[in-house]
Amino acid sequence: MPVDLQTPLTYFKGVGPSRAAMLAAKGLEIVEDLINYFPFRYEDRSNLKPIARLAPGELATVIAEVRSAKVAGLRRRNLGLFEAEFTDSSRGVILGKWFHGAYLADRLTPGTRVALFGKIEFDTYRGELQMMHPETEILTADEDDQEFQLHTGRIVQVYEAVSKVNTRALRVLIHRILEDLPPLEDRLPERIRQALHLPTRTEAIRASHFPPAGTPVAMLNDFRSPAQFRLIFEEFFWLECGLEIKRRRARMMPGIEFQLTERVREQIKTLLPFRPTGAQKRVLKEIADDMAHPSPMNRLLQGDVGSGKTIVAAEAAVIAVENGYQVAVLAPTEILAQQHYLSLTPLFRKIGYVTAPLTGSSAAREKLKIKEMLRAGMIPVAIGTHALLEKDVEFAKLGLVIIDEQHRFGVMQRLELVRKGVTPDVLVMTATPIPRTLAMTLYGDLDISVIDELPPGRKPIVTKHFTSDHIERVWSAVLGEIRTGRQAYVVYPVIEESETQAMKAAQAMYEHLSREVFPDIPVALLHGRLPAAEKESAMDAFKNGRTKILVSTTVIEVGVDVPNATVMVIEQAERFGLSQLHQLRGRVGRGGEQSYCFLVTEKLNDAGKERIRTLVESQDGFHIAEMDLKLRGPGEFFGTKQSGMPALRIANILRDPDILSAARHEARAFVEHPPSQEDFTAAVTYIKDHWQRRYALVQVG
Ligand code: ADP
Ligand code: MG
Repeated sequence: MPVDLQTPLTYFKGVGPSRAAMLAAKGLEIVEDLINYFPFRYEDRSNLKPIARLAPGELATVIAEVRSAKVAGLRRRNLGLFEAEFTDSSRGVILGKWFHGAYLADRLTPGTRVALFGKIEFDTYRGELQMMHPETEILTADEDDQEFQLHTGRIVQVYEAVSKVNTRALRVLIHRILEDLPPLEDRLPERIRQALHLPTRTEAIRASHFPPAGTPVAMLNDFRSPAQFRLIFEEFFWLECGLEIKRRRARMMPGIEFQLTERVREQIKTLLPFRPTGAQKRVLKEIADDMAHPSPMNRLLQGDVGSGKTIVAAEAAVIAVENGYQVAVLAPTEILAQQHYLSLTPLFRKIGYVTAPLTGSSAAREKLKIKEMLRAGMIPVAIGTHALLEKDVEFAKLGLVIIDEQHRFGVMQRLELVRKGVTPDVLVMTATPIPRTLAMTLYGDLDISVIDELPPGRKPIVTKHFTSDHIERVWSAVLGEIRTGRQAYVVYPVIEESETQAMKAAQAMYEHLSREVFPDIPVALLHGRLPAAEKESAMDAFKNGRTKILVSTTVIEVGVDVPNATVMVIEQAERFGLSQLHQLRGRVGRGGEQSYCFLVTEKLNDAGKERIRTLVESQDGFHIAEMDLKLRGPGEFFGTKQSGMPALRIANILRDPDILSAARHEARAFVEHPPSQEDFTAAVTYIKDHWQRRYALVQVG
């Protein structure tokens, strides 16, 4: 039976039921899976030498036999030094030393044949050559010469072990597969392959697993060998093609052609409480142009905290309403929905628009009435949470959906929403300043607008770090600000599992602050478990300045807007992520007054120190997001669930932005001018069959 991409791994020698099960548990079942399981590191073991010819200072591989071995020190607690003497046919002797190496005593027994790889040193005291902690592979007696050569005497690739299937076993198995596998079909368009001098798919896969002699190892470890480049490029290429096709299909859907009349302009003018910044004007124009276009808008509005996204969204709403359509504003939490409702309602009232709130905790009768009015088209602007997505919520004429903080919503929900109306325009707003390359991949089917300018008169927020034993200084600074008429937030971390705990901490601190530290100052408490009415009144009281200090869990992380608040105290700041801290800090510095952020920490590890330092030194949301990504990686940065991050095999968005942009360029050109209709159809089918699910593209063709 000829081997092909679909051949099950159990077909190969060495893959019995137990190995097969371990591989399958990691999604490795057929040939295609395993040849796309790439090494993460390479070692140059080509310098294979007899011991007698070794010189101190060189990196070398030695094949030798254990002559004697001993453990010095505390064997039982695995603290001892393991030392073995090796020899080979050249009669040379070299020592291998491993601290905490007692566990090796059972493996490296006299007579065992091993390959050692590492730096050759000279033990002056003993007058012998030595290697400290060499990479060690035990050679089995039944191994034939050819297999033995896979592990040494060449550039050797290192795989992440798959449960008990170690790098060595993977090397052998992948080698067997590649020997039997006929050349693969190359789906990358020939034109692109030639223009970029890319190796064929077959060559690229082979050379990524078994690099040809002479390939610079540093280049391999940077993932920039021609073979790796091609595979990375290819992954991005199909991803970008998929996104581009999706974007084009969306453009072809019948959308609404909003009219930008004189009346729209006047209403916007009446609505605006201040002069928009240049960035706000530019972004509004991008949105208005989209809305005037007959195809549906799919736009991401990105802007750092406090950059003024809300007013831009309100302007877009005016365009829709003046054209006789309804607008839905969606927020990720009740508090934020509430907040939007409170800040948008007076704006819209000025121009005679009715607004209505709809969240999960709205009273049943109230909900019923609002739903009825929405269905009848009597409410032009609905503001709420997921509740707006429920099946029984119908709009008479939904024309625009504004989604705040989309990364919390997830791709599927966005789609659900779009299904609600007759393809309404969609404006997604995010304050997470995602680096542009990443944004374009993550939201590749959206057009992007960026507000890159803060409203005038903003002063940088003074950010300081205190350990909790100096908390008194923080409270006296807070007191100082309150005496001059300002307000302050005090925030406690919420970690999902321990919301109760955070709530208790906030509760306790609220009591402590209101009774002991600030007995004659009005302090209020806000957390997610409060009944909606209490949340509302707490927000209200803080907003109009009746309470001076708001003690809160992270429910205020996004969106709250009280320009008179100038102090943000973050307790246990070490427990927050960088971006989250930046968001929290963004709750102050919203007016013309000098604002302060005090980061209070209890136990600080190195990563925590790094985060605090970044924040004290920088206010640039993009820089901070980039640091955050670097420190945590894309998976965690976005949360693994629902993030819509494509599952890439070899490409890495952080490491490979240059290849990503080359791939995007080619993908756009390909979709726009495919060599032929057949080529295009073939590409769509190929993406559907092979890449769609992995890339979370949802629907391409
Ligand atoms: P975010 O982008 O974080 O949602 P907001 O829309 O809440 O920011 O705006 C932050 C604050 O700045 C609000 O108090 C808002 O009224 C104010 N603001 C926004 N744009 C301007 C502007 N052009 N001139 C003056 N103040 C503005
Ligand atoms: Mg906002």
